[in-house]
Amino acid sequence: MFSFVIAYIIAIASLARRAVKSGCDSHHRKIVIFDADTDPRKHDSIVESCGGCVKKALPLINAAACVFREEDQAMALLARHGEVKWIEDDTVFAIVDTPAPDVRKCVRCFGVKRPGFSTQTTPWGVTKIDAPSVWARATGKGVRVGVVDTGVNMSHPDLAVNVKAGFDAISETEGVEDDNGHGTHVAGIIAALDNGFGVVGVAPEAHIYAVKSFDSKGKGMASDIIQGIAWCIDQGVSIINMSFGTVDSGKALELAISKAAEAGVLLVAASGNTGGQNTVLYPARDPNVVAVAASTQDDQIAAFSSSGPEVDITGPGTDIYSTYAGQRYKTLTGTSMACPHVTGVAALILSAVPGLSAKELEELICETATAMNGFPRDQQGEGLVNARAAVASAIENRL
Ligand code: CA
Repeated sequence: MFSFVIAYIIAIASLARRAVKSGCDSHHRKIVIFDADTDPRKHDSIVESCGGCVKKALPLINAAACVFREEDQAMALLARHGEVKWIEDDTVFAIVDTPAPDVRKCVRCFGVKRPGFSTQTTPWGVTKIDAPSVWARATGKGVRVGVVDTGVNMSHPDLAVNVKAGFDAISETEGVEDDNGHGTHVAGIIAALDNGFGVVGVAPEAHIYAVKSFDSKGKGMASDIIQGIAWCIDQGVSIINMSFGTVDSGKALELAISKAAEAGVLLVAASGNTGGQNTVLYPARDPNVVAVAASTQDDQIAAFSSSGPEVDITGPGTDIYSTYAGQRYKTLTGTSMACPHVTGVAALILSAVPGLSAKELEELICETATAMNGFPRDQQGEGLVNARAAVASAIENRL
């Protein structure tokens, strides 16, 4: 009888393990946010007691990304659990680089001068915001910039020297090879090297901390973004570039953004490529984030650039030539490209006047922007970012 009971218990335990394991195979992830005073070491046992398993710990916001076998049943159990504050879907975000095609723009692309390895081109956006005029006294040298994106082509000869560390939030390893190209493009706009070939970035001596939170298709889950932001904070970055967004955010990323802001990090995000009124995506529309709209080479707000009262500033965002995956270069268009121009200017300011707070940086960038004639505030924010005026104002205010 006793051995039968033991065998029965073992059988039940084995079934339970299988049940949990099969739950772990599910791709439908939830983020469970625990009470602030719940010990993170208890997360696993709480989730397991409700028929799920933890796929990713998120200590920054005292939460965990989880999967469940019987989701409805598990949600009911967790909702009643005294130490669980909130449960939500692990939202899918997308990189922001695919506005509706514009035939005229594509025709113009063919006219862009393609640099070889014997010459260096200064992309029009870098010139437009007057970045080269400040390089004699500010190059972003040593300023740590987090790029939460599709990873970065670490071996790119026009970037490698400036890429100081990387983290793959998807596989939780150090390899951040960019299998999409978007992250490498963004990193190049911020900090491509001033080395006589290829292109040059806004802040050619800034240090890039590359995060891969987005896959080869440019999709990324909130939990991977949150983990990437947490890694950036741990690395002591001053600025995080977020050229991604979604319509419906969720509380978890909002919490992570507020933690990063509390840690003193300047957060910069692309407003979105949907055009129209009141279309600013999250995280750009978060009050803790600088939202960046996109302008064209002839000083117009790009038709695809999302607008709304949350837009803070504008950066060049059409036909932007920069570094790309596979040690290549490519021309891309979008608010994703506008955003890193502003990030680069923040790095220039910090290298000229170290120790400024994120709030001071944001004020300097916005106050010195150049208003664009004929466009409402909802489309351009304070205007086009101006590196020369921003750095000059920072130096002047310090004296
Ligand atoms: Ca270069």
